[in-house]
Amino acid sequence: MVIVAGCVAQAESEEMIKREPYIDMVIGPQSYHKIGDLILSYQRKKKKFNETNFDVIKKFDELEKIPISQNKISSYLTIQEGCDKFCNFCVVPYTRGPEYSRPFKQIVEEANILVSNGAREITLLGQNVNAYNFFENNKKYKLSSLIRELNDIQNLKRIRYTTSHPKDMSDDLINCYKNCEKLVPFLHLPIQSGSDRILKLMNRKHDTKYYLEIIEKLKIANSNIKISSDFIIGYPGETEKDYKDTIDVIEKVGFINSYSFIFSARPGTPAANKKINNLETNKKRLKDLQNIIENFQLRHNETSLNEFCKVLVENKLANQEKYFGRTKFMTPVIFQSDNCKSGEIINVKITSFNRNNLFGFHKINNNEKAA
Ligand code: SF4
Repeated sequence: MVIVAGCVAQAESEEMIKREPYIDMVIGPQSYHKIGDLILSYQRKKKKFNETNFDVIKKFDELEKIPISQNKISSYLTIQEGCDKFCNFCVVPYTRGPEYSRPFKQIVEEANILVSNGAREITLLGQNVNAYNFFENNKKYKLSSLIRELNDIQNLKRIRYTTSHPKDMSDDLINCYKNCEKLVPFLHLPIQSGSDRILKLMNRKHDTKYYLEIIEKLKIANSNIKISSDFIIGYPGETEKDYKDTIDVIEKVGFINSYSFIFSARPGTPAANKKINNLETNKKRLKDLQNIIENFQLRHNETSLNEFCKVLVENKLANQEKYFGRTKFMTPVIFQSDNCKSGEIINVKITSFNRNNLFGFHKINNNEKAA
């Protein structure tokens, strides 16, 4: 059985079923809760389904009835869906609908269940997670309200959230980096381009000055903070000067990670029919940009060499006397230990590194302080 799901599936469902006869079912993002019933129904009737209706509230009501069985050390919790920003390259506002925030109390209850199931780190999820906005009894709840509430859950050790829009990086949220010790000092904040001209063409609703001011405020709130970002290379009309502006911003911020891609048209979006730049130029620009960011990543990892890092232990590696965990910056750490348990935060002495990983060992009863 071939099931295609997701945002583009939602937008192009009829075309997909018509053109690709092996597809049995197309399921839009607001219909995931029906997947079990749809599979059973397909087995009975052998009839193709195009399930792409748009009822986000019903989806969450249905998903709430399913007992939470996640028992991972690091768990995800969806708090928000949809987007009102309409960037000219993006299909999400058409496929996920307008911004919708789940009820505050429901999220806090779920977070408590996840922690009682063993989670020690929770990542709050949303297409525009920092646009979270819920009203109840004349009270307004924002992402900062959720972070403060989760910060008080006793056995929870780390809080993350993704993905954010620069427009919604409000001061109350920035202050959480000063006041909530469980919020990790690592933020994924997409900028897409460092050229104000391209940002305008993209309809991003922010410029580079505004973005850099946010980074400054974050650094004042917590001087340890590190940033990762998204970049689109070769957006229609990007010139060499626009590309250089992007590299300038990268050098200024020193991003330690990125999701970077060459522009690819999404059907139905305003940018879909624009003239595409030369592919070879785009490939070279992307490679050069990635090299620069990889260099920042490598230098960041190097700062941990011969230091103690605080690592949240996730699991023991199969068939090896080694463990796997992550730093607060999400860097994977592979280490030896004579005694450690999943879910603990321990001090690991880093003895070597590469661009993606840190390596080291953990000994109990060492008195050295973690970096
Ligand atoms: S890129 Fe992000 S902010 Fe822009 S429209 Fe898509 S989901 Fe919304």
